Amino acid sequence: MNEPNAVMHDLLIVGAGAAGLMAAITAARAGQRVLLLDGARKIGAKILVAGGGRCNVTHFAVSERDYAGATPQQIRKVLQRFPVRETIAFFRALGVELKQEDTGKLFPTTDSAKTVLEALLRGCSEAGVALQHPARVECLRFDAMQMHFVATTETLAFTARRVLLATGGKALPKSGSDGAGFSFATAFGHTLTPHIVPALAPLLLPASHWLLALSGLALDVELSLILPSGAPFRFPGQAKSHLVRGAMLATHFGLSGPAALDISRHWTHARMLEPRTTLRVNWLPRHREDTLDAVLVASKGVSVLHVLRELLPERFARALLQEVRIDPSITPQQLPRERRLSLVRALTEMQLEVIGDRGFTYAEATAGGVPLGEIDLSTMESKLQRGLYLAGEILDVDGRIGGFNFQWAWASGFTAGSSQARASRA
Ligand SMILES: Cc1cc2nc3c(=O)[nH]c(=O)nc-3n(C[C@H](O)[C@H](O)[C@H](O)COP(=O)(O)OP(=O)(O)OC[C@H]3O[C@@H](n4cnc5c(N)ncnc54)[C@H](O)[C@@H]3O)c2cc1C
Repeated sequence: MNEPNAVMHDLLIVGAGAAGLMAAITAARAGQRVLLLDGARKIGAKILVAGGGRCNVTHFAVSERDYAGATPQQIRKVLQRFPVRETIAFFRALGVELKQEDTGKLFPTTDSAKTVLEALLRGCSEAGVALQHPARVECLRFDAMQMHFVATTETLAFTARRVLLATGGKALPKSGSDGAGFSFATAFGHTLTPHIVPALAPLLLPASHWLLALSGLALDVELSLILPSGAPFRFPGQAKSHLVRGAMLATHFGLSGPAALDISRHWTHARMLEPRTTLRVNWLPRHREDTLDAVLVASKGVSVLHVLRELLPERFARALLQEVRIDPSITPQQLPRERRLSLVRALTEMQLEVIGDRGFTYAEATAGGVPLGEIDLSTMESKLQRGLYLAGEILDVDGRIGGFNFQWAWASGFTAGSSQARASRA
């Protein structure tokens, strides 16, 4: 057994991702002696790859409705402790100006994720955070005699009065977030949600699917979940069915792009509740069956392909007509009514045979984790182990695409960090 390091820290943070870095800076600025440990050789891998290397730091309008997992009330409690304007001010004070794009997403004006990571690391160093890496925590326990925590890495042991688990979830395991934090949490009596699955993950179609040949094509679509009866799937206790609108990208394996990523965790959960649930796509979200049929009926003397070309990329129109076995050169009037309506349904309510997602290796977030009901949401302290705190993706909260997952990490990390000075006085 490794001999504990002589220095007693006020707060030991396991994980120097977004939540851990934010908590470390906040707690150290409040006078706490903070030790931040991370198993990764290179710190901040996820921040660097985020937003295609530009880091989508947050979104101009964040509310609990942008998240899934815990209840909206629980999520709101944490979000309101560190609203978006605080994120903007926090980064500005660290020398990072954020700019808002038309989509509402906020990025650094440098368009470089490196700016964000460097600022956070500078913030840590200026506040006096002791950062050690690679230092993967292998064992974490509370010594009830000494009233402190002991964290052990392969070669060292560290002691601290309080510990924050900011180990992330399971998405992008090569970054170091491989779910180890979940076993630390359960060892202290925490439970985990019944399912921990990839969120914001690309979806797989069968190898023979016609859409694979359209790899690279992006379309604005509307996605929903459908029961075998054709009725919309509804999650228990939810009045509304789940609907996602946005860009979807055909790829060599299936579906990606914001709309597909956003619906992935809902598709997975729906399948667990009702295995026959399918994904329905409306390729023309501005139309419903009747309005699109009216467009076809009103077209005079032009081919079906000509009509569809006005609404969709020709490459897609041709592939879809081939799929539904309709000659692109005939006019809508030459089509029997039933054939015309089947084309309209293929365009507005096509059921896609999704066979799975690409898993945690390609997922951007984790759905499921430690339930928020086990956490004091005004401090992020565990209700089961005094002095233990949890923040970030380890918790049962996942956001839609657009900067919401980082905002959760900033807000929960800030809440945990800013409660430390009070905890040390208690
Ligand atoms: C490709 C990709 C792109 C993304 N883009 C965006 C985006 O643009 N905007 C957005 O809002 N969100 C984005 N996300 C999601 C976002 O990155 C995460 O939700 C967020 O980083 C979670 O922060 P976290 O601090 O909770 O966990 P993480 O960032 O996962 O950090 C956890 C840290 O804990 C360390 N760790 C784990 N176990 C141990 C251990 N036993 N000992 C020591 N250290 C340990 C890991 O090495 C890691 O550094 C993206 C995710 C991915 C994968």
